[in-house]
Amino acid sequence: MTTLSNGVIFDAHLDLAWGTQLGRDLTLSLEDLREQDPVAGQTACVTFSELRRANVAACFGTLFACPASEDYPQGYDQTERDGWKGARRQAISQLDQYRRWQDAGFIRLLGSGEEVAAHVRAWNPEAPGPLGVTLLMEGADPLGSASDLDFWRAAGVRLIGPAWGRTRYAGGTDAPGPLTGRGEELLIAMREGGVVLDASHLDDASFEQAVALQPNVIASHSNSRTLVAGNRHLSDEMAAAITERGGVIGLVALSTFIRGGWQDGDPRATFGEWAKHARYYGETFGWEHVGLGTDLDGGFGLEKAPAGMQVYGDVRRLQSELPDEKWEGVRVGNWLKWAEANL
Ligand SMILES: [Zn+2]
Repeated sequence: MTTLSNGVIFDAHLDLAWGTQLGRDLTLSLEDLREQDPVAGQTACVTFSELRRANVAACFGTLFACPASEDYPQGYDQTERDGWKGARRQAISQLDQYRRWQDAGFIRLLGSGEEVAAHVRAWNPEAPGPLGVTLLMEGADPLGSASDLDFWRAAGVRLIGPAWGRTRYAGGTDAPGPLTGRGEELLIAMREGGVVLDASHLDDASFEQAVALQPNVIASHSNSRTLVAGNRHLSDEMAAAITERGGVIGLVALSTFIRGGWQDGDPRATFGEWAKHARYYGETFGWEHVGLGTDLDGGFGLEKAPAGMQVYGDVRRLQSELPDEKWEGVRVGNWLKWAEANL
């Protein structure tokens, strides 16, 4: 294996196209984006130039369809029979955004573990190329049914998290429940079609069924429930099920998910506290299963990121909180090895 000592980063969860849906232009410099940012109260830290500066070679980039809520009334209507078509519209428009970014040279869509590994290994920090992006669908509602999987697979989607909150497929965050019948069909189709299961956001009941149907599983952005209560985070049973199947778990950089009981206005969580999740996973389930899945700018800004984070590149502050010899695996090596074997 060629060395990855050039400091390159792989981030398993970035809601890049979602930012565009909120009116952000990620092709701007961070300074310019912040100056004209339409998203109030969430200071951005992700733009393409900023990711390049931080030496992020590749990521899983999401297609995230947001359901309607008080905060986002233009989302899709989960109460309507055909409401999921609104989810499909959002995902299609995000897919189109990734393609336009690729045409403009900002990203390169990567469809297999082999492509991801070749892209990351060839990365030259002196002359960084486009950001490598493998598409991850967060929440399966953009699919009408399992029979739509072929379409999305052909479009480049390699990983799907069936839940966010509750979807038509699975119980999810703060919305307990099992897989639906449609969900079971989707998981079987994912196994047969070679689409990886992202267990982040799955409720315990749906998780157990899902890993039984599709054992090729990761958690792109999930901290530990042993340190922070709630079904958004992985119980030890879930983390064991993922890691026993060879999966990797991405660490989320959100204060609410780092420190139990954190509320808006509290001092931000520290990098030391974030590292506790890494250490807990590493020491309990094996360091080879720990990676980054920061979710930065995905619904929160610097106000909720660890204290000291000013720009994306400050993710590196995690290094000093981890055992020296583990950092390379956490920042890139573990996801890369996983991708080569499983994606
Ligand atoms: Zn998420």
